[in-house]
Amino acid sequence: MAVNAGSSSLKFQLINMPSEEVITSGLVERIGQEVGNFVIKVNGEKIQTQTPIPDHQVAVDLLLNALVDHHIVESLEEIDAVGHRVVHGGEDFDDSVVVDEEAVKKVADLAELAPLHNPANIIGYKAFKEALPDHVGHVFVFDTAFHQTLDKERYLYPLPLEYYTDLKVRKYGAHGTSHKYVSQQAIEMLGNPKESRIIVCHLGNGASVSAVQDGKCIDTSMGFTPLAGIMMGTRSGDVDPSVIDYLIEEVGLDMKEVIKMLNKESGLLGVSGVSSDFRDVQEAAANGNERAQLALDIFFRRVIAYIGRYFIALGGVDAICFTAGIGENSFFARKEICNLLAEALGIEIDDDANVNGKGDRLISTPNSKVKVYVIPTNEELVIARDTKRLLNL
Ligand code: ADP
Repeated sequence: MAVNAGSSSLKFQLINMPSEEVITSGLVERIGQEVGNFVIKVNGEKIQTQTPIPDHQVAVDLLLNALVDHHIVESLEEIDAVGHRVVHGGEDFDDSVVVDEEAVKKVADLAELAPLHNPANIIGYKAFKEALPDHVGHVFVFDTAFHQTLDKERYLYPLPLEYYTDLKVRKYGAHGTSHKYVSQQAIEMLGNPKESRIIVCHLGNGASVSAVQDGKCIDTSMGFTPLAGIMMGTRSGDVDPSVIDYLIEEVGLDMKEVIKMLNKESGLLGVSGVSSDFRDVQEAAANGNERAQLALDIFFRRVIAYIGRYFIALGGVDAICFTAGIGENSFFARKEICNLLAEALGIEIDDDANVNGKGDRLISTPNSKVKVYVIPTNEELVIARDTKRLLNL
């Protein structure tokens, strides 16, 4: 079972290993609200239940009972292990880990760095631990682990060094499970060369770019928190920190309001004034909305700025990969980004493969100097693989 528990939601996939077949998937949302929502796939059909779901324990019991009731499993004994996504592993975890008391404590301590996410991840773990037999193994899979291979000169901010040594202020990155999966798929698609230079563009509501050399992440656009890097749905990405002080002085906002603005009211939403959803912004731009067009133009330029940076860091690039909501689904976004890179990197897109293809695929022409791939991300599969590997199942 691969689990992604948030503060008010819980997504799950039950995966048969080692065949990697998804047996069922679903989500519980609006946990703690008056009426919760539970969706589970049974024989390919989504079955939805609306009922009060006061806490995560009720959510987990609901979904485990549904597995038995719908004969997806005959008994809960069939579940061998649960892999839990954990957002922040700090410097403590450079790989997934079998859960023990010490791991739970470390993840709880790291809540300072991810106050919205890590506590919810632990609550999710405890609910499964309580509901399943004792012999079931649990594994934490960290979203930061893949980025722990960054060198000091890339993860340190040029601040007084004490802020790092005393308070661990540094770049941690995010979406690591996705960057790991996509870069591994790309290496396979390149024919498993010994040396490889790959840039992964994870473009979803949250978005990040990473540089992967010979399978190891050497740099990534997210920072101390997931506010850094490229422009996102509602997040600004990189801005000069002096903007914060200026807005406090000039507009009279307080610090919390400015940080909220940067996290929730910026990005595609803030510039376009239309929506944080890429499709809405694209549609508005096509209908002549100039702010929406400007939002797209800034978005694309922020993506290529990181690609350019990582091209230099890697000493060239063999493959650029697109993944997540926008990266997987928007042929328009891929084409615009690749057009902006065409002259400098000699990229040529095969329009038919870009527009019409499905699944993992090459979308550049044989003449293109860089291969361009679309690789739908699969974080649940990484969670399942790591869980199996660490528990020797
Ligand atoms: P997250 O997991 O970070 O919430 P997703 O990876 O689901 O986000 O990505 C959501 C984004 O993907 C939204 O901006 C949405 O508009 C965009 N998206 C989804 N489908 C399409 C599509 N067909 N064309 C363009 N954008 C799309």
